[in-house]
Amino acid sequence: QVNIAGVLHNLGIDTLNEASSTGLKWSGSSESSIVDIHSPVDSKLIAKVKFATVDEYKNVVEEAKTAFKTWKNIPAPKRGEIVRQLGEELRKHKEDLGKLVSYEMGKSLQEGWGEVQEMIDICDFAVGLSRQLYGLTMHSERPLHRMYEQWHPLGVVGIISAFNFPVAVWSWNAALAWVCGNVCVWKPSEKTPLTAIACQKIMAKVLKNNDLPEGISCLVIGDRNIGELMSYDVNIPLISATGSTKMGKAVGAAVGARLGKHILELGGNNAIIITENADLDMTLIGAVFGAVGTAGQRCTSTRRLIIHESVYETFKQKLVKAYGQLKIGNPLDTNNHVGPLIDKDAVKNYLNSIEKCKAEGGKFVVEGGVLDGEGYHSGCYVKPCIAEVSNEMRIVQHETFAPILYLMKYKNLDDAIAMQNNVPQGLSSAIMTTNMREAELFLSVNGSDCGIANVNIGTSGAEIGGAFGGEKETGGGRESGSDAWKAYMRRQTNTINYSTELPLAQGIKFDL
Ligand code: NAD
Repeated sequence: QVNIAGVLHNLGIDTLNEASSTGLKWSGSSESSIVDIHSPVDSKLIAKVKFATVDEYKNVVEEAKTAFKTWKNIPAPKRGEIVRQLGEELRKHKEDLGKLVSYEMGKSLQEGWGEVQEMIDICDFAVGLSRQLYGLTMHSERPLHRMYEQWHPLGVVGIISAFNFPVAVWSWNAALAWVCGNVCVWKPSEKTPLTAIACQKIMAKVLKNNDLPEGISCLVIGDRNIGELMSYDVNIPLISATGSTKMGKAVGAAVGARLGKHILELGGNNAIIITENADLDMTLIGAVFGAVGTAGQRCTSTRRLIIHESVYETFKQKLVKAYGQLKIGNPLDTNNHVGPLIDKDAVKNYLNSIEKCKAEGGKFVVEGGVLDGEGYHSGCYVKPCIAEVSNEMRIVQHETFAPILYLMKYKNLDDAIAMQNNVPQGLSSAIMTTNMREAELFLSVNGSDCGIANVNIGTSGAEIGGAFGGEKETGGGRESGSDAWKAYMRRQTNTINYSTELPLAQGIKFDL
């Protein structure tokens, strides 16, 4: 058991009610909107949090705009130094923040710590990036002219995040946005505000230590109403939104209507193709962790296994055996493999999907169900389950955010790739094979249509060094590594004439 009061104290959240006190950057003051935050682990009240009012939201955005005037004029490597200090603070708080992530969201303690490690990693990445915001130089077609491009910050970057990665997604966006010279306004999921408050306190301390305005890092606690305000707000040139496809369509339409920029990181429906040449022992670890890790609540969770007919029965038996060994329970107990779903609505969705799957002809080889009794009082613990299905079934085409794994069979690899691609989402995908031709076909233009395509690694999880995101209904955005930073900046092309003439481009003559 974890002393959660001690964890909150160490993170600067002193009492149960402290989280509700008014802080300009991170909370509201309207008495009417006090919300109880319960843990899915044991359903205990963690804290009461006040949601921001519209006026408070507007004040925060004004605060951010003012801070931008200071921040954009600080050289990028110096901004990197602030992000380096954030990384150092996160190292100090990894133990406690990871525990709070686990307790508030319900993921395993290992994954809670892993999430904080991801934050540290992206800070390190961003520090290096702060000296590498490169533009290109071009050769001008005109004599004694020079052309180049440079990258400038956008201004206020709005971050809307989901409950399942309550802190990492913020850091993926914020660390990059900051070194690029932007300030951030973050609206975390209304289901996980405490981890966000803890992060805000850590960053506020770093800013204070450096005599910088807290408006560089703003937090607004609220539900989708605040998200909507942000989406329509012309003061926020870029919205980076992570969540369901339904949310992404609404945010995309609102931001698009004002011709703003957006990064959308939405739902996945991720498959692993298991060929006759797969190493089945290795595959088993990737598939089971992918399907049941974070109780199936990762955007990259494995939802579908597309298995060659020659190994289908053998692998199915291995899966059934492995599922029989899964320990479900308190995620803070490191002996357990599977923790709870986020709340009872998620449990309802899980049960509905099982019913729909059965109604469409799905055959369960590992049955699901809700657990009750000792240790399961929150009502959020469910059994990971497995069904044999066909890819066309409506429920299979849909992302259920729970540990339900679908099995399907294939004869030739082209058909398997077509099945993998034939869903509305396009986030993560994988092939398990020791055959080079199969692997290369999967990665080729005729292979996976997803933003992430792996060989001999499951679909779940990613390293921060690569650009993260997916195609189709996953939204098309990219965050984190590679050159994802470019989305947080505006490109300016500069042509400089150092001659005594004014030649026009394309040889156009214009004599006066
Ligand atoms: P959600 O869509 O319910 O909420 C996500 C965030 O959007 C919350 O902060 C919410 O308040 C806000 N929101 C909801 N409707 C909005 C609207 N109309 N306008 C503005 N803001 C709005 O998602 P969730 O249940 O918190 O998270 C689960 C979903 O997130 C899954 O679909 C999962 O695949 C997806 N996800 C995707 C990624 C990715 O990188 N692709 C990462 C994590 C989660």
